[in-house]
Amino acid sequence: MLNQSYEPLNICRVRRAIPLLDQGKAEMLENGRGFIHTVRASFAIPSVIRLDYVVRRPRQRQRMTRLEIFNRDSYTCQYCGQESNQLTLDHVSPRHQGGQHTWENVVSACARCNRRKAGHTPKQAGMKLKRLPGPPKDSYNFNIPHKYRSTKTEWRKYLPG
Ligand SMILES: [Zn+2]
Repeated sequence: MLNQSYEPLNICRVRRAIPLLDQGKAEMLENGRGFIHTVRASFAIPSVIRLDYVVRRPRQRQRMTRLEIFNRDSYTCQYCGQESNQLTLDHVSPRHQGGQHTWENVVSACARCNRRKAGHTPKQAGMKLKRLPGPPKDSYNFNIPHKYRSTKTEWRKYLPG
């Protein structure tokens, strides 16, 4: 089941999908294999459906933990580019200068760079970020259970990446 935005939401049973299609709340994007026959009608078995409305996902953003930030930055200091497993968190715009504790303002920094930057902005410290920080790209993880991987090949093109 895809959101209106084509983002995969979940895997549901055919008997949940058919009423959604029947009531015009979803459209079928991929036909499955075969038909379901009832006394009154026959329905194509849907394999991929897209909702006609937006489902708000409660946890679209990942929790911002130290590990998630290190992960996002591939365990690399965002100033000198050195890979390390002994990183610290750095507020790009320092908290005492109004910097927020957000994905956009927190980066991984090695101890040396963190000391050098101290309570300054990168500009004040004459340092440069390797890249603009933001929420992790893979904040949306939808994995196809292993048992469907070889059988539901028509699902693949709807998955991110
Ligand atoms: Zn560094």
